[in-house]
Amino acid sequence: MLLYQSPWIDDDLILFRENVVRFIETEMVPYDAKWRAQHHVDLDIWTKAGEMGLLCLDLPAEYGCGGGDFRHECVMYEELSRRGISGFGQGVHSMAAHYVYNYGTEVQKKRWLPRMAKGELIGAIAMTEPSAGSDLQGIRTRAVLEGDHYRVNGSKIFITNGGSASLLMLVVRTNPNERKHGLSLLMVETKDLKGYRVGRVLDKMGLPAQDTAELFFEEVRVPADCLLGSEEGRGMYQLMGDLPYERLIIALCGVGAMEGALAETSKYVKERQAFGQAIGTMQHIRFKLAEAATITRVARVFVDDCIQRLLKGALDNETASMAKYWVTDMQQQVLDECVQMHGGYGYMNEYLVCRMFADSRVQRIYGGTNEIMKELISRSV
Ligand SMILES: Cc1cc2nc3c(=O)[nH]c(=O)nc-3n(C[C@H](O)[C@H](O)[C@H](O)COP(=O)(O)OP(=O)(O)OC[C@H]3O[C@@H](n4cnc5c(N)ncnc54)[C@H](O)[C@@H]3O)c2cc1C
Repeated sequence: MLLYQSPWIDDDLILFRENVVRFIETEMVPYDAKWRAQHHVDLDIWTKAGEMGLLCLDLPAEYGCGGGDFRHECVMYEELSRRGISGFGQGVHSMAAHYVYNYGTEVQKKRWLPRMAKGELIGAIAMTEPSAGSDLQGIRTRAVLEGDHYRVNGSKIFITNGGSASLLMLVVRTNPNERKHGLSLLMVETKDLKGYRVGRVLDKMGLPAQDTAELFFEEVRVPADCLLGSEEGRGMYQLMGDLPYERLIIALCGVGAMEGALAETSKYVKERQAFGQAIGTMQHIRFKLAEAATITRVARVFVDDCIQRLLKGALDNETASMAKYWVTDMQQQVLDECVQMHGGYGYMNEYLVCRMFADSRVQRIYGGTNEIMKELISRSV
């Protein structure tokens, strides 16, 4: 492959990347098949990652976090996605930590961030409900303030890390008479929480190592000081504030998967023989690789630009939505071609491109569907 280095990489990050790769190759890759079969990662991977200082990388050291910036998180996502390690839900863990950091009080930050950075608390984001996905303002899970606690009733669905999460960023309705202004965010510690129940770990098309789950709340008492920030009704604004960060992570994982699949496919076609020659010498295959490499590079350059904008605090919602929608559409197209170039082997789960293809489908659905991305972009055109 032609060499390309992201403009945001420096010597420190090159060293950091070596540590990340070593950790993923020794602590994750050998266990991925087991995790996929059991439908969750082994929970000690969280504390191992915490001990290595690989969680909450872009939040300040004063809260026990990595003290780096978004580039450190990027390295981690890239290396995970290049290897198809999709069960370790670091993305939503980081996003949950960001809500605490961005909107939490000082007491809340000190209470949750150090334990999230150590992997003692596993984060999840619980927004979606059976009757409210794209239409987030339709959320029904109700939280009623009663003295020093909220009484919570309702349910959530499709929650990444749901089976193992010990700290939920839970979106609740605190005012039934307001749609947009009626939502609030509660941070909920789930250990021994009466009335809280994890339902089914959902049987999915891809991401089998991810314990995506249903969550149920029946007369759950959540301490009032778990409200994020100090005011009810701010939930929708708080959610919208972090969207560029979340959408860029999804796009970056898309690029990482394309790069990983392309490298794997390029190797494969040089080895695989048909009609007395390596299939990689055939013009059709060479052209397919050229097309996939070009799309991947364009996606990479766009995502790198978004990363630099985000680092400067200048990534707008529309640009992040463009990256999320276009890159994940391209991810599926490129991975489909990579499967095709592997022939029947590309359909076998023991091949990386097969697992990546199945895992990739949801990228166009979660984090706001690609149709919703287009809806948002179109308003600015
Ligand atoms: C594997 C997986 C992991 C997930 N992880 C999480 C998580 O961690 N936390 C969480 O809260 N949620 C999570 N989700 C939920 C995900 O974000 C939602 O599924 C997604 O937002 C879509 O909502 P929905 O499923 O209700 O679809 P719907 O909103 O019912 O949409 C159905 C279809 O209608 C289209 N549509 C809807 N409204 C419009 C519109 N206005 N214009 C054009 N088209 C429209 C959609 O694009 C889609 O094609 C996850 C989902 C999956 C599958």
